Amino acid sequence: MPNSELKENIKKSTRKHTRLVDVGGVLIGSGNIISIQSMLTIPLIQTDAAIEQAEKLARAGCDIIRVAVPNKRSVLALNEFRKAISTPIVADIHFNYKLAIASAQAGVDKLRINPGNIGSSDKVAEVVSAAKDHSIPIRIGVNAGSLPQDLIDMPDRAVAMVEAAKREIAILESNNFEDIVVSLKSHDVLTTIRSNRLFANEMNIPLHLGVTEAGSFVTGSVKNAIGISTLLLDGIGDTIRVSLTSDPVDEVVVAKNILRSCGLYSKGIELVSCPTCGRKRVDVEAVVNEVEKNLPETDRHVTLAIMGCEVNGPGEAREADIGFAGTAGGFIVFKKGQICGKIMSQNAVSEIIRILKSFLDD
Ligand code: SF4
Repeated sequence: MPNSELKENIKKSTRKHTRLVDVGGVLIGSGNIISIQSMLTIPLIQTDAAIEQAEKLARAGCDIIRVAVPNKRSVLALNEFRKAISTPIVADIHFNYKLAIASAQAGVDKLRINPGNIGSSDKVAEVVSAAKDHSIPIRIGVNAGSLPQDLIDMPDRAVAMVEAAKREIAILESNNFEDIVVSLKSHDVLTTIRSNRLFANEMNIPLHLGVTEAGSFVTGSVKNAIGISTLLLDGIGDTIRVSLTSDPVDEVVVAKNILRSCGLYSKGIELVSCPTCGRKRVDVEAVVNEVEKNLPETDRHVTLAIMGCEVNGPGEAREADIGFAGTAGGFIVFKKGQICGKIMSQNAVSEIIRILKSFLDD
């Protein structure tokens, strides 16, 4: 099957149909574009810093921002945060139903709360009532590490996770609430994949994908890329969050790259670069690292190739929208397959960015 056909299949026919959920204008499920989520690492009570981090996330391409709301002071800060941030916000609540209700009143766009955690049926009913009043959905988040006691010893952890999700869904549905998103996450990639496949086989509730507690930037990126992309290529998943022990902006960058690699993200600059070898004529690694930090944002899909020599470099450079192939003292410049000049090594980074911006302005 050609790549173009594979991409179309992933985008349309093979995507599993799920219900539509609206998170502050970002549509999740029912074949909509797969949105990217991340979570603030700065507490809401450090409000100015939290706002700054949220703005950075939004600029990086984060569609939905989750915040922890662990106490009343956080709710007070949430009011100010809400006014400053236009990106949809999810309030992450554990145990305390009053915080969920107050967060809904503060104007968040979704609650992440497990109804089984918050006590009596009256309390659940009050949270559901607040969600209905404010027309916001609820995400049920099942984590393999915090299953109910009676499910912990089930021989198949993926089956136990699905069972936990069903119980939580049943509580909400018994309150006539169906505006639900579900996540099933484990630090173990295979358990994450299997639990989501099992769930998607039975339910049409939108799925938020991610491998949780995945580790540092490198380890976590690999785990999330495998877990999330395997499911996306199966047509499963409606929104994603890459969990990393790292700057949350890194989560967004990795998420965009996962979607792009699956043919599900068509914005921005796709960087192609060689691994370098004994034939390199320029320091490709240094140039690529600096260029990547300074890439301009764009809604177009543009390929940029930076290659180390004139042996294998021109092929990739010609294929790209803008290409650079290493040569003595600098790079030969290609634009849409045609050679159009040379830049010197000493100002390669600034010249690549300048040429790229001029291409985007054309
Ligand atoms: Fe080596 Fe040239 Fe290929 Fe880069 S483009 S890996 S330098 S042969």
